[in-house]
Amino acid sequence: MRLCLPGFRLYLYIPLSPVNKVLMKLNFCSLSSGSSGNCYYLGNEVHGILIDAGISATSIRKFLKNMDIPMQTIMGVLVTHNHIDHIRGLELLTRKNTLPAFTTNKIWKSILSSQKKIPPDSVREIPLTQKFHLAGFDIEAFPVCHDAPETIGFHICAGGKKITIATDLGHICQTAAPYIKAANFLVIESNYDEHMLVNGNYPHFLKSRIRSDNGHLGNHQTSAFLAENISENLNVICLAHLSKNNNTPEKVLQTLQQTFSEKGITLNGKQRISILNRNIPTEMISLID
Ligand SMILES: [Zn+2]
Ligand SMILES: [Zn+2]
Repeated sequence: MRLCLPGFRLYLYIPLSPVNKVLMKLNFCSLSSGSSGNCYYLGNEVHGILIDAGISATSIRKFLKNMDIPMQTIMGVLVTHNHIDHIRGLELLTRKNTLPAFTTNKIWKSILSSQKKIPPDSVREIPLTQKFHLAGFDIEAFPVCHDAPETIGFHICAGGKKITIATDLGHICQTAAPYIKAANFLVIESNYDEHMLVNGNYPHFLKSRIRSDNGHLGNHQTSAFLAENISENLNVICLAHLSKNNNTPEKVLQTLQQTFSEKGITLNGKQRISILNRNIPTEMISLID
């Protein structure tokens, strides 16, 4: 329920459940991450949200059930852009599970031109770089550079933690960098190993597209940015959206370790690095110590 007081830009939300207390539980799980499908879960003790629905709705329901997360606790889907590896299950989730989905006007236009059965009731437009509130989370969408009509990342605050998710971006532009640097928990793309891509059998135009400023982040790009910007406040780094054909978890880790060691960076005891599996859900990761 939302109350709007005339003359005030402040929106007051009355929670349906006791979510305003200090959060005791804040969990993240990657259901799938990579060029074949992306879907992430973020939940508190009462509710959860999904970020992207790039695998089938059946798989999403199955994975959530396996983790004892009731479907009715999911309060919506945040959508980063219109590529199929981010919206494959969206239509069924909105139609069969009546879930609302949240993205910008421009991204909605690009999605609805192909996904015509998404019910109008599920279409929720959000502004760029302005906070909105959903299910106990303060959420802000920020623009990233990628070859879709528009692509966004999400910065989510809950329980005193800052979570940033940026999975499809050709380079880390000025609009995205502050949100990535501010994260305590970061999900960031490390899509391709430069050597594997250059020497692989993709056609030239596709290699150029992937490597362009509007394509994807390579292992060296991501590692260099992290080495330059890692702070004590960044507790967990999840390296995400690995290419099936041009990357391996070992290459991601090797590049990161090498870059960190060249810069003399050592992780403190609390910092964790996780490479998200392309097809298998991760364990549930707790964000509250
Ligand atoms: Zn993608
Ligand atoms: Zn994409």
